[in-house]
Amino acid sequence: MTTLSPEQLQVRELAAQVAQREIAPHAAAWDREHHFPRELYTKLNEAGLMGLLVSERYGGSGAGYVAYALAIEEIARADAGTAVTLSVHSMICAAIERLGGEQQKKTWLPRLAAADAIAGFALTESDAGSDAASLRASAVREGDVYVLNGRKQWCSTGRFAAVVLAMFRTGGAGAKGISAFLIDPASAGVRVERVTEKLGIHSSDTCDLAFEDARIGPDALLGEEGEGFGTAMSALCGGRIGIAAQATGILAACLEASVKFASERYAFGKPIGAFEGVSFKIARMATDLEAARLLTRRAASLADAGEPFAMQASQAKLFASTAARTHAAEAVQIHGGYGYTTEFPVERYYRDAKITEIYEGTSEIQQLIIARSLLGRLE
Ligand SMILES: Cc1cc2nc3c(=O)[nH]c(=O)nc-3n(C[C@H](O)[C@H](O)[C@H](O)COP(=O)(O)OP(=O)(O)OC[C@H]3O[C@@H](n4cnc5c(N)ncnc54)[C@H](O)[C@@H]3O)c2cc1C
Repeated sequence: MTTLSPEQLQVRELAAQVAQREIAPHAAAWDREHHFPRELYTKLNEAGLMGLLVSERYGGSGAGYVAYALAIEEIARADAGTAVTLSVHSMICAAIERLGGEQQKKTWLPRLAAADAIAGFALTESDAGSDAASLRASAVREGDVYVLNGRKQWCSTGRFAAVVLAMFRTGGAGAKGISAFLIDPASAGVRVERVTEKLGIHSSDTCDLAFEDARIGPDALLGEEGEGFGTAMSALCGGRIGIAAQATGILAACLEASVKFASERYAFGKPIGAFEGVSFKIARMATDLEAARLLTRRAASLADAGEPFAMQASQAKLFASTAARTHAAEAVQIHGGYGYTTEFPVERYYRDAKITEIYEGTSEIQQLIIARSLLGRLE
């Protein structure tokens, strides 16, 4: 594994600064009030974090996946909801850069890299989650427009996004009948149907989008007709590096809080960290944090080198999300009764950690991807 470059170290430093100054002091209130801090993304832009996966040609920094993972980890240490918004946004920037036509790139990338627009993602439907290839929302070509109908469930940033990467069925059954579109959710015929109430990541937005005879031009098609499933899967592959980094950031926050509490809280005349029952939890937490970081960085380094990284991204997400969920529970345990109250942040970490095992492919789906990479499709 290569050491970090001066540019990557600078991204990490800037992300840490903006996270500590602009996010950490507000994270508990945003969580409590379910507040999506739209204005924050301008500040993330000032720190150069909105265009990490956009090339300089289109207004980004082109800093790459290692820098992206470092930034997401720092942001997630302060607030996991903000981290997922930035992660999904960046994943869609990368998809547009990779697959978009020149006009689409010129239309969207400078705006996305400058936080003038935030990007959202819409693949899932009520009956198509892990089995995304069974999605039913349709895009029917009528003359020179596509007419969209159906409903997309749990779209991250749905209410605040200026563009959503959404998958619709343009052909027959299965993965080959799916196409990807770049859609402005404010278009006629698109409406927010339901805002999702969630266990955690309250500072992120999640909603359902309903499409009723929404008419969009063919310039909204990203890539070729029928290639949308591959577009979604390749976008998610990069996105998993972001979710692994988000889980790593939650884990880092759990460790920080646990070390502090275990040093300051006394029981039986000693700091509780003096008891092995507590200190060994912290030792495991710190070790898994390093492992999560290294796995995430390995996947990101491969992505930056242009090498295959799907299995490594799944391994990083699987490991980091399991570790985040496990150790967030331990962090609450170390805090005792205080851990269960909103007086300390670990109850928020505990709620936030769980989602990292579910979105952008559940842990079971990550294992499927890893196993298939090793064994092929045996069925
Ligand atoms: C807060 C939040 C934000 C989200 N953001 C987005 C977003 O921005 N865009 C988007 O498109 N989607 C989004 N999602 C959807 C998310 O990606 C899906 O929930 C996830 O992929 C799982 O799909 P599902 O919920 O339909 O579960 P299901 O697919 O119904 O799975 C249910 C259970 O069965 C297991 N399972 C399913 N198939 C298999 C299998 N073959 N082998 C073993 N186990 C299996 C799963 O692992 C899971 O444990 C979001 C969800 C949430 C909760």
